[in-house]
Amino acid sequence: MFEKLTALPPDPILSLMGLFRQDTRSNKVDLGVGVYKDEQGNTPIMAAVHAAETRLLTEETTKTYIGMAGSALFNERIAELLLGNDHPAIKDKRIVTAQTPGGCGALRMVAEFLHQCAPGSTVWVSDPTWGNHIPLLSSAGLQLKTYPYYDGVKKEIRFDAMMSALEQAAKGDIVLLHGCCHNPSGADLDKDQWHAVTELMLRKGLLPFIDIAYQGLGDGLDEDAYGVRYVAAHVPEMVVAGSCSKNFGLYRERVGYLVVLSASAEQAVNAGSQVMTTIRAHYSMPPSHGAAIVETILSSVDLKKQWLDELNVMNQRINGLRRELNLALQQQGVDQDFSFIERQKGMFSFLGINKKQILRLREEFAIYMVDSSRVNVAGLASGNIEYVASSIAAVIR
Ligand code: PMP
Repeated sequence: MFEKLTALPPDPILSLMGLFRQDTRSNKVDLGVGVYKDEQGNTPIMAAVHAAETRLLTEETTKTYIGMAGSALFNERIAELLLGNDHPAIKDKRIVTAQTPGGCGALRMVAEFLHQCAPGSTVWVSDPTWGNHIPLLSSAGLQLKTYPYYDGVKKEIRFDAMMSALEQAAKGDIVLLHGCCHNPSGADLDKDQWHAVTELMLRKGLLPFIDIAYQGLGDGLDEDAYGVRYVAAHVPEMVVAGSCSKNFGLYRERVGYLVVLSASAEQAVNAGSQVMTTIRAHYSMPPSHGAAIVETILSSVDLKKQWLDELNVMNQRINGLRRELNLALQQQGVDQDFSFIERQKGMFSFLGINKKQILRLREEFAIYMVDSSRVNVAGLASGNIEYVASSIAAVIR
């Protein structure tokens, strides 16, 4: 059965990680892989996570099955974190939340659910979008179309073009938006733009689908959730896929969640039963451990404070590195304007350099980034920023 199979090309980011590992130069810098790193280049376990895990070890009483939706307490706490404690969608019992294996699990289950509601529906995704959106959504049977999003020359959102494209969408089409910290561009919608897109989606009968994988890594938990909360307060129906991989540093534990907002509490019950059946048919139920850590943190005043403090250190570090890199490039006397790095949010930005320059950075300077010139800003550190800036200056001159 397997003899006719051919090998598929390796994932570019994983290949880059392999090359980086093999590189023996001591000054090497990894700006490729999309995980948060501290000043020492490590991705440590957050202290609040460690403390919650220690509590769980002594307090957990059973390993029995958890159910399709995962933990009810996790779902309650995470919906409050996303929407705020007294969001009308929560008060009116219009939402269903389910714990999922990571943000990817949430995206795929939402896609399966949407395909079940309206087979072969069209999802509009931003150009560019996170690479894995394409297989995750299309393997569920959804059709994909793109709307213009990032202008690589002007380094800003092509908002007019985005709106014109979405004007062409048909009633019932789905619009995938990044809640914050757009991956890969770092360019986020501002408040007025969220308002305008919401008005368009309402007027044209489009379904908002928000992927929020970086809540808290931009400007803060509430600030980063502005778009999700605004949309949820104005539309009858929407879907959300969220991740705890980055903001709790729980990457390998696979913690995410999906939220389905329905027009009424009654419809929410029906939608919930469909979502659970979809989950049952795929993986039956999510793994428990990571979500148990999250719910322990979010249910404890002291652990939540500790976690928030740590999260703020992370987003301040990212925003600080953005400022420092822009400044360091200016000090190198480069002609190009890199101030967009400072304005953009989250871990990623496109440097806007070409493949030849990217290759030179890797071969001559041991600085690694993917071919699109997307860099993970968190891969920088005070100790290497001058080096990275002078290397970039050298290859773009
Ligand atoms: N959405 C976006 C935009 C992402 O960047 C990621 C992670 N890279 C995810 C979803 C999913 O993350 P995970 O499955 O690791 O929670």
